[in-house]
Amino acid sequence: MFDDVRSEAFQQLHARVAEVARYGAAAAVLGWDQETFMPPKGQPARARQLRALAQLMHQRGTDPQVGKWLAQAEADMRSQGWDPDSDPARFLKVARREYDRATKVPTEWVAEFAQLTSEAKMHWQQARAQKDFTLFAPYLRRIVAMKRDYAAFFAPYDHVYDPLLDAFEPGMKTATVQQLFARLRTEQVALLKAILARPQVDDAFLYRPFPVAQQKAFVRWVLEHMGFDFEAGRLDESAHPFTTGFSVHDVRLTTRYNETDFFGQAFYSSLHEMGHGLYGQGVNPDYEETPLAGGASLGVHESQSRLWENLVGRSRPYLTWLLPHLRQAFPGVLDDVDLDAFYRGVNKVQPSLIRTEADEVTYNLHIMLRLDLEIALLEGSLDVDDLPEVWNRRMEEDLGVRPGNDAEGVLQDIHWAMGGLGYFPTYALGNVMSAQIWQAVRRDLPDLDAQMQAGRFADLLAWLREHIHRYGRKFEPLEVLRKATGQDLQAEPYLDYLRAKYGEIYGL
Ligand code: ZN
Repeated sequence: MFDDVRSEAFQQLHARVAEVARYGAAAAVLGWDQETFMPPKGQPARARQLRALAQLMHQRGTDPQVGKWLAQAEADMRSQGWDPDSDPARFLKVARREYDRATKVPTEWVAEFAQLTSEAKMHWQQARAQKDFTLFAPYLRRIVAMKRDYAAFFAPYDHVYDPLLDAFEPGMKTATVQQLFARLRTEQVALLKAILARPQVDDAFLYRPFPVAQQKAFVRWVLEHMGFDFEAGRLDESAHPFTTGFSVHDVRLTTRYNETDFFGQAFYSSLHEMGHGLYGQGVNPDYEETPLAGGASLGVHESQSRLWENLVGRSRPYLTWLLPHLRQAFPGVLDDVDLDAFYRGVNKVQPSLIRTEADEVTYNLHIMLRLDLEIALLEGSLDVDDLPEVWNRRMEEDLGVRPGNDAEGVLQDIHWAMGGLGYFPTYALGNVMSAQIWQAVRRDLPDLDAQMQAGRFADLLAWLREHIHRYGRKFEPLEVLRKATGQDLQAEPYLDYLRAKYGEIYGL
């Protein structure tokens, strides 16, 4: 596809970018293996292999020659008048962005930060095991300081958090996210209060034993039926479910199995990862080994996983289709549970301490707390030592639950130990985008409920492929959203969705 671009510099750049992408894919295979099949004693050798590849990628990617090819290709683009929305023009735009990001940050900073976060992860694990934040605090203090330095490399900026957010969500501004979150928080806290004043739904039947061997067969069958291509992907097991990919034709999902928590573990996490995987399998294959491969951002990726997990997977039409198949695969286990009870059970709202276990109504509240604390730490208005207390107080205010110790509170996520400040907002952005995209899907597919009830997902998948997946990283997140929905990012579709759905379930 890019072979007919009449620019020698572009072709040389293309060759180099493809080379680096192949190292990246090789590193991803090693990373996937590390989380799935690698024996524990393989760890030190694996760390050396990954470091060698990371160094090679950085070296080949930030080579000054790459900067020269980029500048010359950009000059060729201007003199030849390429359409700014054409694939080659967007190729250059993303390549420029990545090159600048990689070269603005000094190599010494990268090395020091890699060292710091590898120590921090170790100390975070110990701190969490001992439920003692003070063991992790000195490392977090240094991470925050280094992240402030990192932001400075991208000065001038509107907000110190902007460069951090931009690394995960290109083009997104802190002010935009803050406005959106302020609106969501007021409404979601009010909705939660109203729900908690109503009788709770029963979901005890979800924790009955479902034999693991049958869980595995059932999940695979469901994913295949819903459109995941097992000729171009796999589903394996890992401690924490994730999705990775080495090509559009090789996308890897993982999940985990627990006999007495089939839905909380294997089933819904598999639907979630399948959403990421369908996106991965749907990117234009011509973008392979170019800067346009992969998803637009973490937020857009999360919009796809949440769409399949929640808007499809926890909807009444979907469950109408699913329940008879569940009864068949697990004879006797759900005989006394009717559709209505099943629907209410998988949508139970229950404030909890742990983000990853949160329901749709409370999930974003966990994210907003983290965003506010990250910003306060960076701005210096919050001291690291005060973090646990501020965290616990805010949990109580927003969710009405208070962590009994640091492991259930401020130490629960690995993101800060990894240095991932700026990452958390993408989860909530994904939720918000998913509902906005869903609204557009429903406009174009008026009989979608009937289709889902009949177990037909092909039209839905084709819509997502057409409007989102195939573009890969060609467009920035807000461009993708505007193209798919005709609108800018908005809180209303998500709030409308929550109010309608949970208003009905809890009789508000
Ligand atoms: Zn996800």
